[in-house]
Amino acid sequence: MLISRWNNTPSDSVLLLLTEEDTQNLSHFPALPENLKDFAAALISRKDFTGKKGSLLRVPMLEGTLYLLGLGKAAKCAGKLVRDSLAWGLRTAGRNHARNAYVPLGHIDMKDKGFVLGEAAGLCGCVFDKYKTKGTDYEPFALEEIFTDIEDSDGFRKGLIFADAQIFARTLINEPGCVITPESLSQKAQEAAEECGLTCEIWDENRLAVEKMGGLLAVGSGSKNPPRLIHLTYKPEGNPSKRIAFVGKGITFDSGGLDIKPDNFMLTMKGDKTGACNVLAVMKGIAALGLNVEAHGFMTCAENMPSGSAYRPDDIITARNGKTIEINNTDAEGRLVLADALSLASELKPDVIIDMATLTGACAVALGKHCAGLFSNNDELAAKILESSCARGEPLWRMPLEDEHIAESLKSPYADLINCGERYGGAIFAALFLKEFVGENIAWAHFDIAGPDFCDKEYGIYPKGATAFGVRTCLDYVMGL
Ligand SMILES: [Zn+2]
Repeated sequence: MLISRWNNTPSDSVLLLLTEEDTQNLSHFPALPENLKDFAAALISRKDFTGKKGSLLRVPMLEGTLYLLGLGKAAKCAGKLVRDSLAWGLRTAGRNHARNAYVPLGHIDMKDKGFVLGEAAGLCGCVFDKYKTKGTDYEPFALEEIFTDIEDSDGFRKGLIFADAQIFARTLINEPGCVITPESLSQKAQEAAEECGLTCEIWDENRLAVEKMGGLLAVGSGSKNPPRLIHLTYKPEGNPSKRIAFVGKGITFDSGGLDIKPDNFMLTMKGDKTGACNVLAVMKGIAALGLNVEAHGFMTCAENMPSGSAYRPDDIITARNGKTIEINNTDAEGRLVLADALSLASELKPDVIIDMATLTGACAVALGKHCAGLFSNNDELAAKILESSCARGEPLWRMPLEDEHIAESLKSPYADLINCGERYGGAIFAALFLKEFVGENIAWAHFDIAGPDFCDKEYGIYPKGATAFGVRTCLDYVMGL
């Protein structure tokens, strides 16, 4: 897709994003042809459009179509709303056979406008319908060119890279468990790594045993698809400013294991690999942006299934760092695979470790479907991540990591730790468990994305299905280093 400067170029659609205040004063739109300005003013004077937040008015004209999108009160208009409105408008235009669009943004008071336009334009056509053999819900479309009145080619480029990374992750996450197994996910990672110049090392079950990855092996032991550990590395050409490691939970399907889930809780469990797919997407994005950090991505992949060879409640396993864990629930498997990977990542002595995981239903209960939990042992890191999450419109809420009662409940009578606590404070328990495997003096952040990882219905820049929530925040954070 091309984003270029508008020069009275004819386009088959015009998207006008207006606050309520803008509708009262259309004269400050120098980059709008007079006839279009008059037309919009007439619609506004008839109260067909008031700028109400989230409104969209589509008006076919003699030549092309006008889309008026409401941003609500100017004082409350944030980047997230602009991005969502842009994606919605462009998606609607595309579905109505637009091939190009003119999107003036000069009048909007926010930074990163080029970036936001690039990202929204890149994401607007994203749907997962490859398995429909008879027609799709929406005709696929491709906007060929977008014209705008602002100059920010670097922002457009970065926004498109962010969009590509998210589409890549969403597509992978949406693939069902019969397609994406630990082995096939390894192949996808290998292909992606080759394409963008990352190195990729894959440990199979034999190597995992040699490397004492007891958590990953236990979780994967019930499936005929054996577990894999994928290690991606990106090294910049110059002297990197920091070393950072990303760790992602990659349960390609989570049945719960012998502590099997009820049917309605098992649906969408193909999405339990979101953390790992996000890590792959973040690594791709870092390489495409050519950022000056040394980055490592660990994808910790297993299928959690019940069978005669599955790990059991009461089993005691030993993680990579030598700590022993008593299993009291085989459905609390994510923290076991992450335990090994966090230990492994810590051995590289990175400045920062960030893990992403669809870890606990408790976090989704606490924060809902549109916000993820952030846990961190480092205030400075947490503040930076919250800044990025806010800038990129991915809501994160910092959760407490200090709770002596929950910390006490991690103890097992037979081993060093127990893997599952009581229902109350379940997200905190899981985070405290992970902390046991993070090396000394490493700034660490954990994203519990179990709430916003899947969308029930299309909204803003999100299609129905996988969201790849977390990718934008992580990329933005690394970009800011
Ligand atoms: Zn589980």
